[in-house]
Amino acid sequence: MSSHISAEAARRRTFAVISHPDAGKSTITEALALHGRAISAAGAVHGKGDRKGVVSDWMSMEQDRGISITSAALQFEYRDCVVNLLDTPGHADFSEDTYRVLTAVDAAVMLLDAAKGLEPQTLKLFEVCRARRIPVITFINKWDRPAKDALELIEEIETRIGIKPTPVTWPVGVGGEFRGVIERIGFGGPDATPGEWKDGRRAAGPQVPGMVRYERSPGGQQSAIAEYLGEDEAVERFGADYERAREESELLSEVEADFDQKTFELGQTTPTLFGAALVHFGVGQLLDLLVDIAPSPFAREDVKGQPRELESGFSGFVFKSQANMNASHRDQLAFIRVCSGRFERGMQVTQAQGGRTMSTKYAQTLFGSARDTVDEAWPGDIVGLVNATGLSVGDTIYAGKAVEYPPLPAFAPEHFGALQMHDTSKAKRFRRGIAQLDAEGVVQVLYSERRGEATPVLAAVGPLQFEVTTARLQAEFDVPATIDHLPFQLARLTDAEGAARLRTAPGVEVFSRPRDGAFLVVLPNKYRIQTIVNDYPGIVLEPLLAGG
Ligand code: GDP
Repeated sequence: MSSHISAEAARRRTFAVISHPDAGKSTITEALALHGRAISAAGAVHGKGDRKGVVSDWMSMEQDRGISITSAALQFEYRDCVVNLLDTPGHADFSEDTYRVLTAVDAAVMLLDAAKGLEPQTLKLFEVCRARRIPVITFINKWDRPAKDALELIEEIETRIGIKPTPVTWPVGVGGEFRGVIERIGFGGPDATPGEWKDGRRAAGPQVPGMVRYERSPGGQQSAIAEYLGEDEAVERFGADYERAREESELLSEVEADFDQKTFELGQTTPTLFGAALVHFGVGQLLDLLVDIAPSPFAREDVKGQPRELESGFSGFVFKSQANMNASHRDQLAFIRVCSGRFERGMQVTQAQGGRTMSTKYAQTLFGSARDTVDEAWPGDIVGLVNATGLSVGDTIYAGKAVEYPPLPAFAPEHFGALQMHDTSKAKRFRRGIAQLDAEGVVQVLYSERRGEATPVLAAVGPLQFEVTTARLQAEFDVPATIDHLPFQLARLTDAEGAARLRTAPGVEVFSRPRDGAFLVVLPNKYRIQTIVNDYPGIVLEPLLAGG
């Protein structure tokens, strides 16, 4: 069994696609699923308006806005691997949800819009990946449209983010003249033969001269047609464009921008591809690259810093929790990232936090509103546990030898609002709802002595979370509530003494956070931090985690 676990883990690739909105994340998710053989989906592939994808319908707000607030995973097979693609929220707001998904992956694909380059969220996301040491593959999308200069894009990434791009493909032509790419490394694994093509995908190749030519497949929706052109043919057909690409590719080698496995795994370099997800150009290469170079699940460290070997008994942690996804199944789902061992449906597991045991009879994967039962899962896989009341985001579950993984980081909130409930006869339901949303990690719930228990203050990374909170309080708990935005922008941790000293300080507010018993000082701007430090010598003010 133990070598079986290692073998199953070794063929898992668990990653997320992250990007600024509109870079093409939904498009590439669908393209990846199409190239792979989809086997199951936990949660939903989000759809947008007229998009044909499977629309998750658990919340009408999501449909109204055409955005994905929920997230889980899509699983498919490609070559001899099982790929787990975790969904991240696609809205402009930055939320803790995205961060949490990144705690459950082994690699990330950063999607850039070729005409826009780095955008605000791209910068934040790169920062999070670097802080968490998540290896990043960069896909420069929409190369079939007018784009920035390829070398300038590469330089922009290196200078603004400090992660060195190592292009593994290099584009021949751009916009309407985008012909294909030079492959700067071999794709398709060590046994691949150069120049062999199968089902519109490269089944092949160590680095070869020449290029891969792309062509839209008739209708454009299925995978693109690709063929290998030798050097002479490439020159003959695409003369100046090909030669320019070849020169630039050689230039990259001169500045040591060639792929390197070790620095990729350390998050210091980012292998970079060029393509167009809409017409599937480069999507096959991206999948090959994931299989070829992305790390498979490894032994995670527990709360004491000891690695939990993959062959140990089953263990995993909750990275997402969600209630009432569907009106016909009113229950709570906890999404677990399997870290070690074999998960088997029906097995008894123990919750590390609290020591409670529970059955996993209702382990499921989800596809839209249809549910499939999952019978077994391996390290890297995502399992949804139904009726998982009592499991909170960050909790560990295990079978066999006990283990507890470190708590998920609570991120630094930048938005604060006082939650007002208007119907006092519903106070009990209100409290239950707030506790539920706090456990799910939708928002951080804070209390102050001054405001009292009836008026919690919500803290979030992005303001959309406030709307999610009031919409869900109404829909699921029948409690109408509104939010008054507060003029604060940041928070610092303090201790009990600091909390007592600052209780009457002007312009700031002190809160307790029941989730972990912490004291938070909430401030209007960073200048106020300085005046507090000056006015209250020796005060404890520590930053909260910005990126994990
Ligand atoms: P998301 O917000 O990141 O999920 O972006 P979408 O996948 O919804 O894409 C945003 C828009 O860009 C849509 O209109 C897509 O059709 C378009 N798009 C995505 N990829 C490409 C591409 O490779 N080429 C072109 N021309 N358009 C694309």
